[in-house]
Amino acid sequence: MSSDASAPLATMVTLPATVSQPDVTLPAIGQGTWHMGEDMTANRDEVRALQQGLELGMRLIDTAEMYAEGGAETVVGEALLGRRDQAFLVSKVYPWNAGRTSAIEACERSLKRLGTDHLDLYLLHWPGNIALEETLEAFERLQEQGKVKRFGVSNFDADAMAALHAVPGASECATNQVLYHLGSRGIERRLRPWMREHGMPIMAYSPIAQGGRLRDELMTDADVLEMASSLGITPAQLLLAWSIRPVAGQRDVIAIPKAVRSEHVEQNARALDIVLDDEVIERLEAAFPAPDHDVPLDII
Ligand code: NDP
Repeated sequence: MSSDASAPLATMVTLPATVSQPDVTLPAIGQGTWHMGEDMTANRDEVRALQQGLELGMRLIDTAEMYAEGGAETVVGEALLGRRDQAFLVSKVYPWNAGRTSAIEACERSLKRLGTDHLDLYLLHWPGNIALEETLEAFERLQEQGKVKRFGVSNFDADAMAALHAVPGASECATNQVLYHLGSRGIERRLRPWMREHGMPIMAYSPIAQGGRLRDELMTDADVLEMASSLGITPAQLLLAWSIRPVAGQRDVIAIPKAVRSEHVEQNARALDIVLDDEVIERLEAAFPAPDHDVPLDII
């Protein structure tokens, strides 16, 4: 089985069209970068990992001004030298930098570190104290200037999404990036249905459970180990394949695992081709049920 750039359409997720941008269809697994750029001795491995991931079809690269205070963006910039067009590049602005002028300045700093003239997607990292109207105004200006193709948010719960939606221009919001894995399924109660209703895919962070509920437990859980082994895949691949599974025949999740080790990058890309059958999904979901009541959004 191969997971090259021609991954079957079934494993793709579409960010819907906006006024200024057409639909974009992306492989349902991309690449995270948190903790990259923190240690210079790891620089070569990190650059190589991102390039390997691109070559294996994981086009979306997620970063943020927060990660290593710009260090991760610098690593991504190095990885994209001469191949910017291969990536769908996502970065995030700190909430306290998300003002009318400050967001534009923050974006320009990110672009400089990334060595590019545009981001494909720019996210508000989490809800803050600056009025959303101001942030959206800055995002709109960045779009007009061609520095940002689309905008979105991160760590917004269902109520925050509804509040955002009431702001003029918010219908252009392309995604909400939230923590989501088999051990942390709270978003399935209200947020995921809300986003489906509004035609907005979810970007799932910590998809192999390095954060949130059951952090560090899921990958060594006996049921997960046994099911992965019986399918001839790794626990991480099982969690990734579960996170991007179609629900009611529709895929609406792009998972963004972070991996530096070459074998991890390869496994993650191969997970694009893994389709779990209904029986496996039912067993997994019985072992790790979604909560039966509303819970606060899991965040790191
Ligand atoms: P992940 O769930 O992606 O876990 C990353 C860890 O898993 C690393 O230690 C990595 O090791 C390891 N790993 C990767 N692939 C495999 C594999 N196939 N088998 C075994 N282990 C594996 O956690 P993150 O918290 O990093 O989340 C992913 C990304 O989401 C972040 O990097 C960031 O881009 C984004 N994010 C966004 C947040 C937000 O607030 N919007 C918050 C947190 C994350 P190694 O690197 O050694 O290969």
